[in-house]
Amino acid sequence: MTKAKALIIPVTPFQQNCTLLWCEATKRAAVIDPGGDLPDIERAIAEAGVAVDKIWLTHGHVDHVAGAADLKARLKVPIEGPHRDDLFLLQHVVETARAFGLQDAANVTPDRWLDDGDQVEVGELTFDVRHCPGHSPGSVVFFSAEQRLAIVGDVLFAGSVGRTDLPGGDQRQLLKSIRDKLMPLGDDVAIISGHGPTTTIGRERATNPFLQ
Ligand SMILES: [Zn+2]
Ligand SMILES: [Zn+2]
Repeated sequence: MTKAKALIIPVTPFQQNCTLLWCEATKRAAVIDPGGDLPDIERAIAEAGVAVDKIWLTHGHVDHVAGAADLKARLKVPIEGPHRDDLFLLQHVVETARAFGLQDAANVTPDRWLDDGDQVEVGELTFDVRHCPGHSPGSVVFFSAEQRLAIVGDVLFAGSVGRTDLPGGDQRQLLKSIRDKLMPLGDDVAIISGHGPTTTIGRERATNPFLQ
């Protein structure tokens, strides 16, 4: 039975895929990567008729996290993730956002850092955490083996991979993360990326030019 439901809300001028993820059995939800445009996110929460318990962050880039502190204050929920290696990004959200002309950004202090092998829960759903450095040092991926679903941030995209020219980026490390931590999840696993359309592990294994 498919208990996980997801609604993608593109936010910020970067069209970042903020994801409202919930457990259909309990209507408890997590907001993943609230980069901005909080009214759009709050409208989606109301329309889905869910109660948000958590904010999860895949990594520390401004388009993924700039609205997290504000949303936490409004919803009174904890922020989980990313991995501690993105601390340097989370401490400089305000100045980075200013450089990109983004409004209403705030630095982020997670309530819980995540590490490889950790688990996060929402409602009756459990997601395994995989630390996948390369796009940023602290990037994490959320994977539910039961639901055959992974939320991968900017690690892997339909037909592409995350950029590695930003501070802390490393292409060799990124490709190793994808090869060792994502490809083994299984070809049937659905992927929600930080930008662009959804895909599957199998489709990327077959067609992604970076993985041939
Ligand atoms: Zn990023
Ligand atoms: Zn991004």
